[in-house]
Amino acid sequence: MKTEMIYLDTRDAQCAPPAFSEAIVKGIAPSGGLFVPNQLPTLTLAEILVFAEMPYWRRAASIFSRFGVDMSDDRVDALMKQAYGSQWDDERIAPVAEVTADMHVLELWHGPTSAFKDMALQCMPLFFSESVDQLRARGQADEDYLILVATSGDTGKAALEGFADREHTNIVVFYPADGVSDIQRKQMVTQRGSNVGVFGVRGNFDDCQSAVKAAFADEPFNAELRDENNLRLSSANSINWGRLLPQIVYYVSAYADMVASGGVIAGEPMDVCVPTGNFGNILGAYYAKLLGVPIGRLLCASNENNVLTDFIATGVYDISDRDFVNTPSPSMDILISSNLERLLYHLAGPEKVRDWMIELARDKRFQVDRETFASLRTSFSGDFVTNDESLQVIRRVYDDFGYLMDPHTAVAWEVAERLRGDDPVLVVSTAHWAKFGADVFRALSGLAGSADLPAHVSSMSGVELLGQVQEIAGDCACVPRALAELDAATERFSEVVDAGREGVENAVRSWLA
Ligand SMILES: *Cc1c(COP(=O)(O)O)cnc(C)c1O
Repeated sequence: MKTEMIYLDTRDAQCAPPAFSEAIVKGIAPSGGLFVPNQLPTLTLAEILVFAEMPYWRRAASIFSRFGVDMSDDRVDALMKQAYGSQWDDERIAPVAEVTADMHVLELWHGPTSAFKDMALQCMPLFFSESVDQLRARGQADEDYLILVATSGDTGKAALEGFADREHTNIVVFYPADGVSDIQRKQMVTQRGSNVGVFGVRGNFDDCQSAVKAAFADEPFNAELRDENNLRLSSANSINWGRLLPQIVYYVSAYADMVASGGVIAGEPMDVCVPTGNFGNILGAYYAKLLGVPIGRLLCASNENNVLTDFIATGVYDISDRDFVNTPSPSMDILISSNLERLLYHLAGPEKVRDWMIELARDKRFQVDRETFASLRTSFSGDFVTNDESLQVIRRVYDDFGYLMDPHTAVAWEVAERLRGDDPVLVVSTAHWAKFGADVFRALSGLAGSADLPAHVSSMSGVELLGQVQEIAGDCACVPRALAELDAATERFSEVVDAGREGVENAVRSWLA
């Protein structure tokens, strides 16, 4: 039997709650808040443990069905088989590697773009497209959708790959022309698909993001797209519930796999340590804990952009006097962790969340009340790692255990070692090392994060540099085929446009023409 589930607004208890399909197409609630489920299912230990015997797609379908997805079970099964199929380089999809007896690593990068974003973005676009189909069938919509994405690197490629050739959707991605690595740029500009576009922007990631936001907010531009192209703008960012739900699956899955491999005793807790930026991944772990997965503590790992470390230590979220720092883990370089709002909703309810979000926008800071802080502290601990430390960790873990990790994972590994107690720890690994080859090369060569590369490698392409890492690390360092073939792939998109709203809007117009 299916549970009736609807989605509430984190800032407004009065909002007319949509079902899953509408929540995923809308993305954000009318008040500016985020959608959260009105009730949470629970899983018994036995229900969790049988996951170990199922293929991953079935694990995902099982979790989705408990969240009242308004689609038939057959349809959900079919979409999940497609989402978690042969495009992954490991049929387990999200395998757990035992690095030491009490430190396991959950590898979330076996998807087509080698980053954890694939876990959600191989799945969410299928459900998005299906949801649009349903809305059209019910006569509630007749437009197609244009997804606009501003990216600092990983999200853009994963979104392109997820939305490529999906019905009723188009996707255009904007990246900072001088702000992404050679490999990240090539991954995007070689994207296949007839409904995709990619533009560089003269400026940094902030410039990209504010230009895309301005285009979303521009009423005449929205009207023009509707009238002339029958298109509605949408976003695929990590606050969409359709991206969060797939991120609950792998924590249930990982616990079952840990029990099956003897990493944890059935029913006993494991701690989870997550390299965190927008708070989406670790929130998946929190939901899994609420569902009944025996997760002890949630360890929130940050880099030098450590606003979350301070928040978990003090209950004060303060960005009023904080500069954005560039780090070797750029996907965690963030000041406002949007998904934190969902956690605060579950701890404190919509009235308080609304007030705190108003304070954050106005004063660039808010402080939670004492009860909320106390309940936060029962589940979460946090710490941060400096740029140089993160590279030293890569070297140390490689030397000690023969396991090569990327700089994001290294941040989590270090925090897990510092904060761990008696329970086994699951360290969450969010990128294949080869996506960040230059810093992995620096790490293995004993260089600092900011150091220039030595002359003999500085003129190499990103892919050639991976070969240098392989010369040092040998068998520990295989490169995913899609990355290895990048230098030979045809570049389809070369245009670089001006920053600002007009630059983005004109790029969209020229792409549509
Ligand atoms: C997106 C990303 C993160 C941060 O995940 P959040 O869900 O935003 O906390 C960490 N590592 C990598 C490699 C990522 O791509």
